[in-house]
Amino acid sequence: MKPGLKRGFDQKVFVNRSLTLENIKCYGFDMDYTLAVYKSPDYESLGFELIRDRMVSIGYPHELLRYTYDPSFPTRGLVIDTTYGNLLKVDSNGNILVCSHGFCFLKGEDIHKYYPNKFIQRDDTDRFYILNTLFNLSETYIYACLADFFTKCTRYTNLLKDTMDFIHDTGTLKERTIKNLEKYVKKDPNIRVLLSRIKEVAKVFLATNSDYGYTEAIMKYLLEDYIKTGNPKQSWRSFFDLVVVDTRKPLFFAEGTVLRQVDTNTGKLRIGTYTGDLQHGTVYSGGSSDIVCDLLDVKGKDILYVGDHIFGDILKSKKRQGWKTFLVVPELSKELQVWEEKKNLFEELKRLDVFLAEFYKHMDSGSRECPDIRDIQTRMKVLTYRMDMSYGQMGSLLRSGSRQTLFASQLIRYADLYSSSFINLLHYPFNYLFMAPPVLMPHELAAQNSADFASSELSAVTKTED
Ligand code: IMP
Ligand code: MG
Repeated sequence: MKPGLKRGFDQKVFVNRSLTLENIKCYGFDMDYTLAVYKSPDYESLGFELIRDRMVSIGYPHELLRYTYDPSFPTRGLVIDTTYGNLLKVDSNGNILVCSHGFCFLKGEDIHKYYPNKFIQRDDTDRFYILNTLFNLSETYIYACLADFFTKCTRYTNLLKDTMDFIHDTGTLKERTIKNLEKYVKKDPNIRVLLSRIKEVAKVFLATNSDYGYTEAIMKYLLEDYIKTGNPKQSWRSFFDLVVVDTRKPLFFAEGTVLRQVDTNTGKLRIGTYTGDLQHGTVYSGGSSDIVCDLLDVKGKDILYVGDHIFGDILKSKKRQGWKTFLVVPELSKELQVWEEKKNLFEELKRLDVFLAEFYKHMDSGSRECPDIRDIQTRMKVLTYRMDMSYGQMGSLLRSGSRQTLFASQLIRYADLYSSSFINLLHYPFNYLFMAPPVLMPHELAAQNSADFASSELSAVTKTED
């Protein structure tokens, strides 16, 4: 389909900052939840069950086994307060938009009891932990189950992080995924098409935090299984100029770790730091973004890095290295669908906002009257609640009523492009100019609206005079 032709919103790439694809000399890809899209909610359910069972096996009450994963509860990007076990949805400044204790959603005055300013100091990372990735959805849900179960006891929270690491690091989750790839990983022949087309015009690399064994199994499944008998076998590695595993992002975008070569026959790491030039078909472990630039002979500004982790993939590569960034937001399809269906609620919220302003229009600092705006405020709360509920119990990933979440503000700030899948790049030619829509600041918007208002008044007058 040609650009400019109408395509479904979930096939579009959205633009925060203009970017000329022609200038991109190198495309980098993350693997998990970017090239490898895990099937929801089966994959999160598996993650949840593994954490839950592990916790029971290390001494947590067996009653926890009664909980099963409910995909309608968690939203990505929530913050866990390890002091109280509350789950919080916050805006970019740490103001609380939604707060739950277990499965119970707290109202204004109850939130004030825990957080007197309805605000958290996000920098306190010992206490507040942001559940940023799709891997964290199962973790989010287990926090709710634990708070629901223990209510007042908070001693479990630190142990839980260890359990998360356990199921990732010991490979339990990976082992179960590899055993049943059809169930857990989406397969799309277009991944081959897109990667081949990119390789014709630019350099391509893969940089994943996963280990070699797992990467090999996933990438083989995604890229090699389509080969018809008789055709020469094309290794998944040939789709890339460089493959780096065990990258330890976000550290990878700073000092990184030692670069080593992986013996692809045994999966073991070769002894010693790798210091030579880039060898095609070689898989590396560790390293840093600087090393990747050296090996591929590209500059940071010429790289478009595609990933799903707002912090580890996007914020760090943009802030530390000035890379161009593409954030994959799988939730976007649902977000767009709900937005289409419920945008009338948002329009009503905006109308109420204008209505509220009308109350104060003829008042100034000398006014003593006190307009009763309680009804409007209640109506706004009801509308916000109705909007939130259309997305799920925790509401949208990106907003609560008219306020944007921390995730949304980071997406706007650090992702040049974003889309529900990287595969949507298929719909744009490699010389495409992604243009950011002009965004007005509040004062410009006010001036614009008053100009529109004046011209509409003028046309009304003209009509009356006619
Ligand atoms: P990437 O997205 O391809 O860079 O890979 C993400 C890797 O991080 C996967 O191997 C996950 O298993 C791993 N991972 C995700 N969340 C956690 C965690 O909470 N603890 C430890 N490892 C994690
Ligand atoms: Mg990822």
